[in-house]
Amino acid sequence: MNSKRKFWSDVVVDLSPYVPGEQPKLANLVKLNTNENPYAPSPRVLQALRGEIGEDGGTLRLYPDPNADRLKQAAAKFQGIDAQQVFVGNGSDEVLAHVFQALLKHAQPLLFPDITYSFYPSYCKLYGIEHIAVSLGTDFEIRIDDYLRPNGGIIFPNPNAPTGCLVALAEIERLLVANTESVVVIDEAYIAFNEELASAVSLIRKYPNLLVVQTLSKSHALAGLRVGFAFGQSHLIEALERVKNSFNSYPLDRLAIAGAVAACEDCTYFEQTRQAVIASRETLVGQLRDLGFEVLPSAANFIFTRQPGHDAAGLAMALRERSIIVRHFRQPRIEQFLRISIGTEEQCQLLVDALRAILG
Ligand SMILES: *Cc1c(COP(=O)(O)O)cnc(C)c1O
Repeated sequence: MNSKRKFWSDVVVDLSPYVPGEQPKLANLVKLNTNENPYAPSPRVLQALRGEIGEDGGTLRLYPDPNADRLKQAAAKFQGIDAQQVFVGNGSDEVLAHVFQALLKHAQPLLFPDITYSFYPSYCKLYGIEHIAVSLGTDFEIRIDDYLRPNGGIIFPNPNAPTGCLVALAEIERLLVANTESVVVIDEAYIAFNEELASAVSLIRKYPNLLVVQTLSKSHALAGLRVGFAFGQSHLIEALERVKNSFNSYPLDRLAIAGAVAACEDCTYFEQTRQAVIASRETLVGQLRDLGFEVLPSAANFIFTRQPGHDAAGLAMALRERSIIVRHFRQPRIEQFLRISIGTEEQCQLLVDALRAILG
């Protein structure tokens, strides 16, 4: 073992890679463990993918547009900003990787919540970035006051993962007013499932240190296509482009660009599916509370919940035996919680029926 590790670069030895939720190879599972959208993507996406392939797939012979200009324009239009304020990448995980390297490595430590997207500490290890894990409040909320301290950058998801809790836009603006000397990154992977769509993109014109990251994975049911964005003033985007162009000229392939453009343009479908997920979430929360579950207030397409009388790992296992997969994190403070993605109405009902049977 060690003799083979001698071939590794030093940085690899100490990495602690992110572990994604399981993608089981079994059919007929109710898969509520990785926050995928339960609905199919817009039919216009499929049409665009077929169009891109054409009769003979001839365009696949050619490299895609390295700048994905068409997609930047479509995303800018969707957001009501300029195309120069848009960065695109191979899923927001890749966008985030470039953000950590390009904007968050400084003399002072980076700040992020102690309970949050577990990819952040992995990027810190990879790029040698010092960080401080800031404790969530007693109700698992992000307290802006705790971030008003010297730092080399601030990042958190809004809504936070895996809690689903939302920080109000006014609070984010309060942070930006107080914190002007480092970049503030708001990771909005789940912002579409907040009823008011209170995105911090509306603040980028005003704050030169604000970067907002989004993805089509959850909001537009395209986790398999791998398309993510960063939105911010052009000097921040330029830093990201410099890293990207030192790493991979073509992070988005032709199909991803074509499909993503169509997804951004189909606002009607986006609105319908996000409202369907929100409605299912509200119904599910009510049903789980009736079964004695405590559920954190969620503005996301998942809920974070515990049943005071039942061990979370045991519940996850019992659900699994009934072909329902949810996510359980073995981490202090949250080991009695389950994170459950919002499925279709039918999937949510199967979950509730299973839990009712398990609780007896
Ligand atoms: C899912 C998720 C991402 C990554 O999304 P991709 O675009 O699929 O890479 C980023 N941040 C958070 C908080 C997420 O939950």
